[in-house]
Amino acid sequence: MTEPSIFTRILTGDIPGEIIASTDRLFAIRDIAPQAPVHLLVIPKTEQYRDVVELAAGDPTLLAELIAFANTIAAEHSDGDFRLLFNTGANSGQTVFHVHAHILAGGLTEKSVGA
Ligand code: AMP
Repeated sequence: MTEPSIFTRILTGDIPGEIIASTDRLFAIRDIAPQAPVHLLVIPKTEQYRDVVELAAGDPTLLAELIAFANTIAAEHSDGDFRLLFNTGANSGQTVFHVHAHILAGGLTEKSVGA
């Protein structure tokens, strides 16, 4: 067995973290190191998919749910406009290999702002 991801540990209450919203298959938290005025993470409750490419191949319906959920949360926490970012692979900056989308919002001015 591999260790549960940091996001699974937040979901199960093993480590502290504020879950700001959830559905039956997804949850959202604030990023601990925000790279934009609003920086949230949307995460499938399952950690079986490492990245968005695996998620798209394995459960495209869940990916579509994730995008709809991100849209709802961005409207609740900012003006509804948002950037959705999936780091994919260590050389892209991915550090947690439990697929998650970054929602970046709130007065983004630079096209290069990432997470
Ligand atoms: P990535 O680099 O795309 O894998 O994104 C992982 C993100 O998780 C980073 O933006 C981190 O700041 C964030 N992160 C790591 N640990 C925590 C935590 N305990 N609570 C909230 N966000 C976290």
